[in-house]
Amino acid sequence: MSRLLSNIARLEAQRACLDRAVTMIGDLAGPVLELGLGNGRTYDHLRVRLPERDIFVFERQVASHPDCVPPPDRLILGDLRETLPAAYARFPQAAALAHVDIATHDRAASERLAVALAPLLAALMRKGAVIVSELPLPVADWRALSAPPEADGGRYHMYQAG
Ligand code: SAM
Repeated sequence: MSRLLSNIARLEAQRACLDRAVTMIGDLAGPVLELGLGNGRTYDHLRVRLPERDIFVFERQVASHPDCVPPPDRLILGDLRETLPAAYARFPQAAALAHVDIATHDRAASERLAVALAPLLAALMRKGAVIVSELPLPVADWRALSAPPEADGGRYHMYQAG
């Protein structure tokens, strides 16, 4: 598969999982956490789909489209290994949805980072929360959900916090 087709498939999987997660959280109270602002594409999608939700974005350094920069009080800057534990005082087991989009071209390093972040993120999620991630996130209390057909083949992962 060409890189173009692979990228299109990844984005379709991402959109399908995010849209399913948005539907699933329905009445579940709590903010949304976006890990990895990047260009701001998925942040923008989430804010369009969830206009009433508080969306907090974690990012090392803002480099997004200018229209997609979160308000300063919703932007948590720094390395996730430090900002996630620091956020616990603000969102102790409170978030309803998290999207983890932190991968770089170094797949092995990205997978190691995801493993390190998984328990830090778990402390922020409420029971029943939905977690959407490109990378596998091993958390014992989370149930792996079957992904939408667009995400078949392990392109994207969905979990529900227990
Ligand atoms: N969701 C974005 C979008 O749709 O445009 C794409 C995110 S991009 C694939 C990954 C982002 O994760 C990068 O902007 C990078 O700076 C951020 N990131 C990766 N590792 C990080 C870390 N340890 N701490 C903070 N941000 C990190």
